[in-house]
Amino acid sequence: MAAPYRRNIIAGLAGLTAFGLGAPAAWANQPAKKSIAKPTPPPKPRLVFLDPGHGGRDPGALGVRGTQEKVVVMAIARELQRELQAGGRYRVMLTRASDSFVALRERVARAQAAKADLFLSLHADSHPDNDVRGASVYTLSEEASDREAAALAARENRADGVVAGMRLGSQTDDVARTLVAMSQRGTVNDSRRLAETIVQTFGKGGVRLLPRTHRQAGFAVLTAPEIPAALVELGYLSNPQDEKLLTVRQHQIALARALRASVDAHFGAGIATRKA
Ligand SMILES: [Zn+2]
Repeated sequence: MAAPYRRNIIAGLAGLTAFGLGAPAAWANQPAKKSIAKPTPPPKPRLVFLDPGHGGRDPGALGVRGTQEKVVVMAIARELQRELQAGGRYRVMLTRASDSFVALRERVARAQAAKADLFLSLHADSHPDNDVRGASVYTLSEEASDREAAALAARENRADGVVAGMRLGSQTDDVARTLVAMSQRGTVNDSRRLAETIVQTFGKGGVRLLPRTHRQAGFAVLTAPEIPAALVELGYLSNPQDEKLLTVRQHQIALARALRASVDAHFGAGIATRKA
């Protein structure tokens, strides 16, 4: 969305320089500069950045039968990558391509460097109550929507501290700074819209959801101000049924298809809004 706009501004500035500020007398005799008249290139496929949580020495949540979060989220990320690439509408990159540790800041930096159009962080949670099950979706907020969301963000943010020995104190400042920049760019609303779309698509696709499915908290991995982003907890590894489902290929494919449909709907709705 932002890229063509930026290109227009740059083209406009180049035009201004050639017209008003360059050599005034010589200008009139020169042939028109080709770069100004160039037709707009066809739109590039959108770049979707997938972030399989944890990795390497950080296994993430552990299931009752020993399933590791880092393994199931990678399997689902790979399915989703296949789903998205199959239609030719998207390019897909992953924050980690193997079972390796990548710090949360580094994940954000990789998506920013690649100029991602969308960022989806994939996780599976665990809960002291084994009966709790279902998926939930999170967006960035300075104040958590509830205590559980705050605790979840603290758990996910701990990935860096535990494994790399990094200081976590500045993460709150990062979230506050990011939210200011995000609201200036409209990314806050885009992220919320993305999260709501995922909740609806999961509901239609028969994916079991937590009550009050879309929540907010200060997730360090969602702090790129220019990229609409959501973190999806795909189920609870502490629940025996969810744990089993998350390891079954058919269910992984079903989750990937529901997420692909969400990405389609997100960009489809964006185009419709701009035309209106
Ligand atoms: Zn996680």
